[in-house]
Amino acid sequence: MITDLQPFYEKKITCLYCGESFTTKKVRSHSSVSYKTDSDFCPYYKENLYNSLYYHVSVCPSCGFAFNSEFSKDFTTQAKNAVQKGIAKKWQSRDFDSVRDVKTAIETYKLAIYSASLKGESHFVLAGLCLRLGWIYRQENQPDDEQRFLKLAIKEYDASYLHSDFVNSWSAIKILYMLGELNRRVGEFKQAISYFSKIVNDPDRNKDKLILNRTREQWALATEQYRDSHPDDNTKF
Ligand SMILES: [Zn+2]
Repeated sequence: MITDLQPFYEKKITCLYCGESFTTKKVRSHSSVSYKTDSDFCPYYKENLYNSLYYHVSVCPSCGFAFNSEFSKDFTTQAKNAVQKGIAKKWQSRDFDSVRDVKTAIETYKLAIYSASLKGESHFVLAGLCLRLGWIYRQENQPDDEQRFLKLAIKEYDASYLHSDFVNSWSAIKILYMLGELNRRVGEFKQAISYFSKIVNDPDRNKDKLILNRTREQWALATEQYRDSHPDDNTKF
């Protein structure tokens, strides 16, 4: 029972690329209760030592392929070749199975984004990685890097919405909300308003009251921010 009180546990993982087994640290849920979340669901933890975001990505120590639980198991021959050339061939064995600081966590996300791109992962998976990395930069008060990764997340969520590769994970309302809120956060207020208005007109809008309420709040905020930044524009929203 004593082991259950430990903040971390070891999770056994099989590399999606090379098939090797390895262990990676995860934070136990009782140690990683977030005390607040932002309007785009960014969670905050009292101690960065137990920041679950830092342990989201698994990195294979044998080949360097980095992934999360959302990656699909499918690997085309073309994707295997791309990972071999771009990652595995150059990899010098390195173990990420220890307590991670912010610098190491950022490194794991960059490896995962690169791995996902080479593998041809879905836009939805790529978006989630970019979003979480943006959150880490926000928590570190690095707004330029945060904005860079939020913009990449927007690009990928936009493509995900277009190709409907989000449907097994999120509702259409949730992805529209995220597109609205992330656009608002990068200063694209008109774009944000356009996404928020799609939610209010969606026939499924009442299925998720939390999102619907948040939409109303963030839509009002985006409108106010647009007015403040464009005092001469009388567009009606
Ligand atoms: Zn591997």
